Amino acid sequence: MINQQRLNEEFVRLTSINSPPLKESAIARYLTERLQRFGAEVRFDNAAGATDGEVGNLVATLPGTGKRTDPLLFSVHMDTVEPGGQVEPVLRDGVFYSAGDTVLGADDKAGIAELFEALEVVSEQKISHGPIEIVITVAEEIGLVGAKHFDYSMVSAKRGYALDTEGVDLMVLRAPGANHLQIDIEGLASHAGMAPEQGVSAIETAALAISKMRLGRIDHETTANIGQIEGGVARNIVPQHLSLVGEARSHDSQKLLEQTDHMLACFEEAAEQMSRTINGNLVRPEITANVTSDFPSMSVPEDASVVKLARTAAAAVGHDLNVRLGGGGSDANIFNANGIEMIILATGMTKVHTHDESVAVADMVHVAELLVEIIRQA
Ligand SMILES: [Zn+2]
Repeated sequence: MINQQRLNEEFVRLTSINSPPLKESAIARYLTERLQRFGAEVRFDNAAGATDGEVGNLVATLPGTGKRTDPLLFSVHMDTVEPGGQVEPVLRDGVFYSAGDTVLGADDKAGIAELFEALEVVSEQKISHGPIEIVITVAEEIGLVGAKHFDYSMVSAKRGYALDTEGVDLMVLRAPGANHLQIDIEGLASHAGMAPEQGVSAIETAALAISKMRLGRIDHETTANIGQIEGGVARNIVPQHLSLVGEARSHDSQKLLEQTDHMLACFEEAAEQMSRTINGNLVRPEITANVTSDFPSMSVPEDASVVKLARTAAAAVGHDLNVRLGGGGSDANIFNANGIEMIILATGMTKVHTHDESVAVADMVHVAELLVEIIRQA
């Protein structure tokens, strides 16, 4: 059913086109032309204006061929992580690698190639299907920027699949949300030898706060970290300023909130403890906290129609589909937050974001098979 040669050629064409985040015009041109050959209507949203990129997110709409009217959405991303440069895909013993010192870009071009091959088979075999919507986002790799700026009014599907995770025969139903913390502590400088009692140390304040903080793995679905600290100016000066960045992640949005609040409270309590009266004035280290939501958590229930459809389709083609807990944010987090029930399917890619990134042809064939069946049964 799957044409392996055609799939390989597609993958080589896709990976040979450079597509760093925000510089996706060349790949967008190719994708447009390719999707139009399937009879899809291709449009772009206005995300480029907000992201300062070359192009917006691509939306392709394929009308259904049967009586079904409930559209199904597939999402992939067109950008690849840096270091970019000219990717030269090579096929060795049935596995694609990058020849040079670049990533391969199987993330996410394996997903795109699999989807295109599935569409080829659907059209070749005249498989009756409902309306299909495809969203190919830009700038996923630099913080889900395309998905965050996507014009969701351009699609009508309420369910779908993101093709964008490592491994095979895996689906991700839950992935954590994350908060980024940027903390600035402003104490009071003084000479550490002559007048230490005239200063309030920002470093001591941070140390006190962090020593009281729950960090690392908080529970089975929550983690937290302080990742970077910068502060002080010289050995003999009580440090006035310190800034640090950290994060909290959780699959549960309430726990994410609680962990974030806990971390902020530790800084405030430390500031309270470090307060002292200097020359008759109460000096309390000033804490400036900046919390930004990096992405919301996603949690699609086991009995959701997209999960059932994936299971039924996998069973029909003899695949054993397992659930894996997601560890990070992906476009699917954002789609779910915008009312589209979406799970993530593995595309066979491995060691993404490294020069050793690879994908086996057999795995891409395997995924394409599943996609054909999903489209047939949707
Ligand atoms: Zn990806």
